[in-house]
Amino acid sequence: MKTVVIIGGGPAGLMAAEVLSSKGVQVDLYDAMPSVGRKFLLAGKGGLNLTHNDPVDRFATRYGNRQAQIEPMLTASQSGFGADEVREWAAGLGIETFVGTSGRVFPKDMKAAPLLRAWLHRLRHPDVSEGGVPVRFHMRHKWTGWNAAGELMFDVKDGTQATSRKACSSVVLALGGASWKRLGSDGAWAGLLQTRGVDVAPLVPSNCGFDVSPAWSEHFKTRFAGHPLKTVAIDGTRGEFVITETGVEGSLIYALSSQLRDAISVNGNTMFHLDLLPDFSQERVLREIQHPRGSKSLSSHLKSRLGLDGVKMGLLYELLSKELMNNALALANACKALQIRLGSARPIDEAISTAGGVRFEAVTDGLMLNQLQGVFCAGEMLDWEAPTGGYLLTACLASGKRAAESVIASLAL
Ligand SMILES: Cc1cc2nc3c(=O)[nH]c(=O)nc-3n(C[C@H](O)[C@H](O)[C@H](O)COP(=O)(O)OP(=O)(O)OC[C@H]3O[C@@H](n4cnc5c(N)ncnc54)[C@H](O)[C@@H]3O)c2cc1C
Repeated sequence: MKTVVIIGGGPAGLMAAEVLSSKGVQVDLYDAMPSVGRKFLLAGKGGLNLTHNDPVDRFATRYGNRQAQIEPMLTASQSGFGADEVREWAAGLGIETFVGTSGRVFPKDMKAAPLLRAWLHRLRHPDVSEGGVPVRFHMRHKWTGWNAAGELMFDVKDGTQATSRKACSSVVLALGGASWKRLGSDGAWAGLLQTRGVDVAPLVPSNCGFDVSPAWSEHFKTRFAGHPLKTVAIDGTRGEFVITETGVEGSLIYALSSQLRDAISVNGNTMFHLDLLPDFSQERVLREIQHPRGSKSLSSHLKSRLGLDGVKMGLLYELLSKELMNNALALANACKALQIRLGSARPIDEAISTAGGVRFEAVTDGLMLNQLQGVFCAGEMLDWEAPTGGYLLTACLASGKRAAESVIASLAL
């Protein structure tokens, strides 16, 4: 029986294991942590967004300049694994899904744990009458590279041995990005691959928060850190985000994070224009502000005429001078396009995901490294990024499947 090693037990590695083991391959799956799927479980905490109900052509655009590489992996006619396949696969594990109002697809109970439990059960106890082979899991094995003989080297954390070696014909690396290190993905693989001549783009935060520049005032931070800004828009896209101690984070910011991050890396800082009142035109806002307010304070006036209060009002007072607050036109403009300047992205460890990684130019269409025969890569460690919305997990699963199918082809099974 053929044996294949998979290193990394996140969604990409587990999907590779599923495809290989169902085809009669003995899979040895190694992971540095005491259990697999820790980031996947964390993703389930706020509601596991498995995939998205976007039309197929729109879905693929979410991968930006890597659309050409990711799209075939999602396309059913090319043996891909897109949104429909993700939902069918979840249903096969007994997890029904539903489409939320934003088009995001979630398990009915929103959780990751039941899905992961059912998945691991199937990997450990496949249908042997159909040719499935149980996956062997090796936890607490941190991969540290290759020795001179070309064997895989692991640091073993169970106290019984310091290192473990494994010779194999094919290996799938599914080592994740470099955020939330405590869950296992530390990005240390980047150096290991670079020393073997693999082209790895620098790992940078994606779907991340930002620090404002200048910093929030003590007063604003104390009052509003943790407060959500609901029903706002940036560049015509509606959504929400949260004020943090040092800046901003949340889905609307994450959607723009690649542009904001890249602009900061070129210019040292950047800004976005926040529409605090997307339901009102600029003219209407101006009219309401100019409406006679009698003895009312400006705050009560803005609240009664435009519904501005709480953190929205706080932001205006934080960012506009007294003169601008008292200038109806300047205030109306600010309500529709409040400038918020950002100085830096939050550290990669806090990010939802990682951009950068093994460049697609360094792998074949089947995701095998050009420099290392028989070594395949899948998941977030590849150089692509996407906004939140289920696009991350979908591409991780799809690339795990693609890598496994290429292994099968290379083994001529
Ligand atoms: C808070 C949060 C919420 C999220 N929510 C969503 C969501 O709702 N929807 C969505 O689509 N995406 C979400 N994501 C992103 C998604 O979880 C990741 O993109 C996905 O888990 C990446 O899968 P992966 O298999 O490539 O890597 P990972 O899941 O990171 O798995 C990599 C595995 O490799 C192991 N490993 C790493 N290095 C080594 C080594 N040297 N030796 C051995 N093992 C090693 C790690 O221990 C880990 O188990 C979220 C992420 C976060 C942080």
